[in-house]
Formats: sequence, structure tokens, C-alpha cells
Amino acid sequence: MLLRNKVGVILGVANAHSIAWGCALHTHKEGAELILSYLNDKIRPRVAPLAESISADFMELDVTDDESFKVFFKFIKKKYGKIDFLIHSIAFANKEYLRGKYVNTSREGFSLALNISTFSLVEAAKYAPDIMSDGGSIIAMTYMGSEKVVGSYNVMGVAKAALEASVRYLAKDLGEHNIRVNAISAGPINTLAARGIGGFSKVLDIVKEKAPLKRNISIDEVGKTACFLASDYASGITGEVLHVDAGFNIIGV
Ligand code: NAP
Repeated sequence: MLLRNKVGVILGVANAHSIAWGCALHTHKEGAELILSYLNDKIRPRVAPLAESISADFMELDVTDDESFKVFFKFIKKKYGKIDFLIHSIAFANKEYLRGKYVNTSREGFSLALNISTFSLVEAAKYAPDIMSDGGSIIAMTYMGSEKVVGSYNVMGVAKAALEASVRYLAKDLGEHNIRVNAISAGPINTLAARGIGGFSKVLDIVKEKAPLKRNISIDEVGKTACFLASDYASGITGEVLHVDAGFNIIGV
């Protein structure tokens, strides 16, 4: 088992379709002990049965709240002493900005999207040197809309570009603590968050037609890649964005 004796934190399980859940299932299968986060009391009943099904701990974390971060990592430090990996699988933008033109994004809509989807990785990384005292691996989820224009992705594309740049800067900062920081650029997957993006089902059809593998990818495939990046097999990899997208990103004309 790749992750035997390792403890991991996974942020962003909303339901059994979440990419974070694919990561939870596979890291658990590989022997990791897990702590999952949920946003608030309203969401707790959705996450609790999933966590219990893999004997994972679960705890509230609202990534827009510094105090919530403090309490979350204090609890983990007290109970587990240290962790070995952290998977960040969180993003949010108001639906009105995930359709139409990017140029119409408001200051408030821009700030909210980048606060939740990007800055939350930076804030989590601040705790890493303390909580990953034996080194570790941080993994974030991104999408190709950061590199190329994808219709309706708009402010989330900009948030993902900032997330990928953050991965590189954090990799540089945390390398001296033997903490690696990487991102998985997943192909489109039908999740709660994705359904908020205008014309999303069309994107799934286009990938199926044009990707070298002639299909879309699954949360299992992202979960398996997360296991690799969390494991010692990826010990020499940091600051990288790894595409798990059936090869779609390599296709030009
Ligand atoms: P998802 O299941 O809806 O997960 C998104 C998660 O973000 C949810 O658990 C949501 O919690 C959480 N979240 C939002 N605001 C939060 C806050 N203030 N504090 C804490 N948590 C918050 O959708 P997903 O597709 O798996 O998304 C996971 C990640 O993968 C995101 O970074 C997304 O951009 C990325 N990604 C997705 C795709 C795709 O096509 N699906 C492709 C590439 C990358 P609640 O639901 O409880 O609000």
C-alpha cells in the first residue's frame, strides 16, 4: 500500500461525486488515515456518512475565515501530531460570473472567487511547516481554463491561473521543509461545482470527441494520481501541474 502509516487532510468533499471524494476513496484504499473537512453544519449531514464509511475523521472548515483555519489545524495537531499530505479541492464563484462575458465580472465577484478558490491554498500552506514536520505533499485541483480560454469559465479561469502560479511560489517557499506542492489539472467531470458553469455538458461532449483517449476522465483517475503525488514515488516532483484529462490539453488544430 502506497500510503501506509500516512495521515492526510482532504478539503472539499461535498458529496460522492466530488473530486475530493475520489481522492479520499483511493488514498484510504492505499492505507492513509484521513481527516475530511466540511463547510458548515448544513453540509455536515452530507459529509458525515461518507467520512464514516472510510473511518475518516471530519471537521468544519470555512476557508474564508482565518479563525476557522486556526481551529482546524490546532485540532489536527493536537490529535494527530503531524500529517503527511493535504489535498485542496475547493473552488467557488457566483453563478452569474460563470456564464456570459468575463469582462462583466464585478470587483466583489472577482474577490470572492479568488479568495475561496486560490487564497485558501496559500492560507492552508502557512500551516504546513508546522503540521508537516517530517515533510509532506500538498496537492491542489486546477483546470485547463487557466491556460486557454474556455467558454463561461471566466473568473474561475483567472482563479486557476493564480492557483497554478501559487503552486509554483509555494513549492519554492516550502521546499526547504521537504514539502512538495503540485496541482492536478483535471479534465471536466460532472460535479456540483461544474454544473454551475454555463454550457458544461457541451464541454464534456467536446472532450470525448477530441481527446486522444476519446473519453472523459473520472474522479477515480484523479484520486489515483493524487495517491501518486502524495506518495514517496513522487518524491522528486514539486511545483508541477499534472494533466489528468485524457490528453485533451495537447490537442491543437
Ligand atoms: P464539488 O464536489 O462541488 O467540490 C467543491 C468543494 O468546494 C465543495 O466541497 C464545496 O463545499 C467547497 N467549498 C466552496 N466554498 C467553500 C468554503 N468557503 N469553505 C470550504 N469549502 C468550500 O466540485 P468538484 O468539481 O469536485 O471541485 C473540486 C475542485 O476540483 C475545485 O477546485 C474545482 O475547481 C476543481 N476542478 C473541477 C473540475 C470539474 O470539471 N469538476 C475540473 C478540474 C478541476 P460545499 O459544497 O459544501 O459548499
